[in-house]
Amino acid sequence: MDIKGYKSLLSEFVSFKSVSTDKAYISEIQKTVKWLEKLFSERGFSVEVIKGTRCNPVVFASYETESAKETVLVYGHYDVQPANKSDGWEKEPFWLNEKKGKLYARGVVDNKGQVLIHIFTVFELIKTQEIKYDVKFLIEGNEETSNDELADIIKKNKSKLKADYVLISDGEIPYKPSIEYSLRGGFNTTLKYTTAKNNLHSGIFGGAVPSAPYELTKFLSKLYNGKNKVMIPGFYKKADKVTLEQLKGNKNHWSDFFNKSISVLLPKKKFKLQISNEKKIKKIFERNKVPSFLRNKLPILCDDKSNVYDFLSNKNFEDDQSDILKVELFIK
Ligand SMILES: [Zn+2]
Repeated sequence: MDIKGYKSLLSEFVSFKSVSTDKAYISEIQKTVKWLEKLFSERGFSVEVIKGTRCNPVVFASYETESAKETVLVYGHYDVQPANKSDGWEKEPFWLNEKKGKLYARGVVDNKGQVLIHIFTVFELIKTQEIKYDVKFLIEGNEETSNDELADIIKKNKSKLKADYVLISDGEIPYKPSIEYSLRGGFNTTLKYTTAKNNLHSGIFGGAVPSAPYELTKFLSKLYNGKNKVMIPGFYKKADKVTLEQLKGNKNHWSDFFNKSISVLLPKKKFKLQISNEKKIKKIFERNKVPSFLRNKLPILCDDKSNVYDFLSNKNFEDDQSDILKVELFIK
């Protein structure tokens, strides 16, 4: 692999400030799209820039291989989060900087670096005539802003995007190149817990009537047992078991990842690091494979109407009209 060639392309790619979270960078987005367009068309790809109504252009490039029987579609994104040197970067964040064998720049691990590995690899395979598949690339520009138009674009271009395999280039690089072959799904849900129609004066009612925040935290505390297991009946029922094969196959890879990243994120006192490799790997799988139930948002919405009469007459004690406390749960 021509690492030098890859780095030189990467330094061009990261130099565009293709920030999608701020409209001020629209000209940089356009430059990035032009750059990708040129990159693919110069290597014999058919390129189409799909313009959305709300989102930044989506670059679609395809390459047909004479003897290919199957098609691989690679997804990636060219947009990045903002970055300023004053945020604590050692060098300019949009300049590729190499230090002790590592590359630093905004987008290097999300997602310019990864998608360019796929692009560059395909270019190399074309050059050496080793390519065995038809290849399609779909590179969008709003991953960082949760592109709400991409699904429509995909539906509209369904036949164009037809493929036998889809490769998501936007995964983690856990210190070693890896291909993720499955991901957990996720969804958000909102729970409302109402104990009274209105907020009540704590001096008068405190301790005497149920309090929504307290009742809800009692409920939340029952979601997990002391061993981090979700206690909702049937929660793990449809989850695949971690197989011995998976454990073996990932042993070195994940234990390395564990030692280098997870362990430094955990408070040493609370988490014993001198555990066996098997246990470490199981821990990783808990994080990556087994369903979990994360509580990551607790916005408390209270109104300040105080209708003591309603409460005293007990008419609306269980009325759920008003959001005394609302909590969002994120289930992965
Ligand atoms: Zn990403």
